[in-house]
Amino acid sequence: MTELRRLPFRVRPMPDEPLDSWLETMAAAHGVTFGQMIVALGLSGPAAVEQDQHYSVGRLNRWSFHLDEGPLERLIHTTGLSADCLQAMTRSAFASTVTKYTLKGRLSIQCPTAGTQGRFCPECLLDSGGRWRLSWTYAFVSMCPRHRRVLSDICPSCGEAPRARPQPMYLVPRPGCCHNRPHRAADPRQRCGADLRDETGRVEASTGMLAAQRAQFATISQGVGRFGMYRDNPQTAPLVMEDLRTIARIAVRALVNGEDIDAGDIPSATLGKALDEDGILRKERPRTSALAALGASLAFQAVQDPDRLFKLLHGRIPPSAVFDQHSLQLKVSVARSRGLNMRHLTHIQHLVPPPPSGAKERARKLPAQIWPEWAAQLRIPKTDPELAAAAVSTAVMIAGTRLSHVEALEMLGSPLPRHRVRDTTRLLRDTDPAKNLLLPIARLAIYLDAENPPIDYARRRALDYASLLPAVDWNAIAARVNTRRGGAPRLRQIRLLLYSWLSGNHPDQAPQLFRPHSAAEVTNARELAASLSHELELELLNVARRFLEAHRINEPVRWSPPLDVADWNPTVDDAERTARWPVNQPAREHLRTTFTFSELVDEYRSGRALKDLASDSGVGRSVISRVLKEAGIELRPAHAPRQVVVDDDRIRVDYQNGRTLEAIARELGCSESTVARRLRLLDVQLRARGGRTKDLAEVVISE
Ligand SMILES: [Zn+2]
Ligand SMILES: [Zn+2]
Repeated sequence: MTELRRLPFRVRPMPDEPLDSWLETMAAAHGVTFGQMIVALGLSGPAAVEQDQHYSVGRLNRWSFHLDEGPLERLIHTTGLSADCLQAMTRSAFASTVTKYTLKGRLSIQCPTAGTQGRFCPECLLDSGGRWRLSWTYAFVSMCPRHRRVLSDICPSCGEAPRARPQPMYLVPRPGCCHNRPHRAADPRQRCGADLRDETGRVEASTGMLAAQRAQFATISQGVGRFGMYRDNPQTAPLVMEDLRTIARIAVRALVNGEDIDAGDIPSATLGKALDEDGILRKERPRTSALAALGASLAFQAVQDPDRLFKLLHGRIPPSAVFDQHSLQLKVSVARSRGLNMRHLTHIQHLVPPPPSGAKERARKLPAQIWPEWAAQLRIPKTDPELAAAAVSTAVMIAGTRLSHVEALEMLGSPLPRHRVRDTTRLLRDTDPAKNLLLPIARLAIYLDAENPPIDYARRRALDYASLLPAVDWNAIAARVNTRRGGAPRLRQIRLLLYSWLSGNHPDQAPQLFRPHSAAEVTNARELAASLSHELELELLNVARRFLEAHRINEPVRWSPPLDVADWNPTVDDAERTARWPVNQPAREHLRTTFTFSELVDEYRSGRALKDLASDSGVGRSVISRVLKEAGIELRPAHAPRQVVVDDDRIRVDYQNGRTLEAIARELGCSESTVARRLRLLDVQLRARGGRTKDLAEVVISE
């Protein structure tokens, strides 16, 4: 490297200029041949790294794609430009997210980073003094957004793609001019020389066409596509680009075959120009800019409109075609176009606004198996309860989104086969008594989007539960609560129960150690859960709490959205519902005739004892304590004195003397409803609210 000298001057690369264009510009500016410039820069010749000393076209292609350390060092040394500035001229810098390599390590010509070389915008060349743009070299770029036109492909003079051949080594480059060698030219130095800046006929690109290209740019630079059908479930750039390429190919082929395709806002002149060029179609890939632009915009329109995509794909996909390089969204659309209707939940998709923070965020708030409290309300007859629970969660995910069943299940990490869940979600709509099930599901989806529930199920799903409840701990618990510890099957059931509390997952996803072997085992575990003694349940909740603490998770063990969210209206065919849907826990149902769950919480918080609440509502104390615990209320020790001492006579007298509920409640430090309830129990006739205040007001006025 010692013999390399800093060049007398340098030309700064333009933004978006490819390396070869800059090398030409440098050579032209110094008045030397391309070969001399490459040697002077140390890319080739005696000062170059060993394998580059003999120049070949392959070398130039490699530098254009990526500058390794050796050539990069030499360029920095000879030009004083920064590494970033130099590397920015290579193709890998921008499109790294979608770059694919063949098995031999070469750049795959199928991927969007692969260059097409020759495309150009004459107006841009004119503006830049003949300097090219890096973005023109990408296969997916076919339009100039600045000049709103389709790029030109061929030199108007020689009819070949400019730059299809590399810059000749032994000539001084002429920026902006075609360096192709004319056919049958006697002198190898003879060049076409046509000025590519001359206008030869503009092909207009519409706003919609340019939007298609912009979306692809955004997808590649962000590494992920979020537009159209990818909105709810963004997909990685390679999948999105492959989808678009496939759809474009189908659309272009149909157009070329003269089939009736809705061309959207594509100008008819542009369409005509593209179709004139169909003779250039090779390997069924759009080769010309106009066809590529056409394909890109048709594909872009299609992924934004499911009906359009359906029409485009329908009948145009060979039964043998495989879509393993494509997004789930396209797979679903293909399945649909082949006659498999996967979207019977269409109305729930429209019943709910799209999740404002995305479907992933909703999935974070939702267990793969809907909460047991909700499952009890949303029971689907003659269906395996676990499958039904998965179906309800799936339906919640689908509400207001464009997710397919596969995607929804994937987001919830559910292992269940799509078709089984799909058949079950269909029952949510079709089963007669369950007709209204979609409405509570829609409300639940809206609630989850709006609220911030205390449990992050995405995190819960990712935990390793293999260490849950070692046998020795279970033995100790069994001894403490004085129950038979049972054999291995019992321990497995207990672990499975803890697992479903904590993870919200389907039993099949439990660790190998206690994964159920049969449906009967799952049923047993469920029955066990329903028959837990209060004491044992507390012990198990403690185990679960410690498990979470060990993972530094500060969340309640269990939680579920209040059932009021669903706004189940008990007056609507209540009798029918009760007849067909016997309540799960009669005691709770009885409790609800006295207190709603939130009233119960208020009462308890205001200091009333479990015993009193139990006698008021006519259910056992354990029912009350369980409901409270599930609501996340820390129970007071049973022996603690009641926090509010209510002197019955005194509040009766106070109230009858005209003190308001509010004043009495404030004095006692409890809620107004507590006072009101107390008074009702004492057979005191309650005044209409605000009555006393009004009296006082009248007194004031009369005075
Ligand atoms: Zn332009
Ligand atoms: Zn030419």
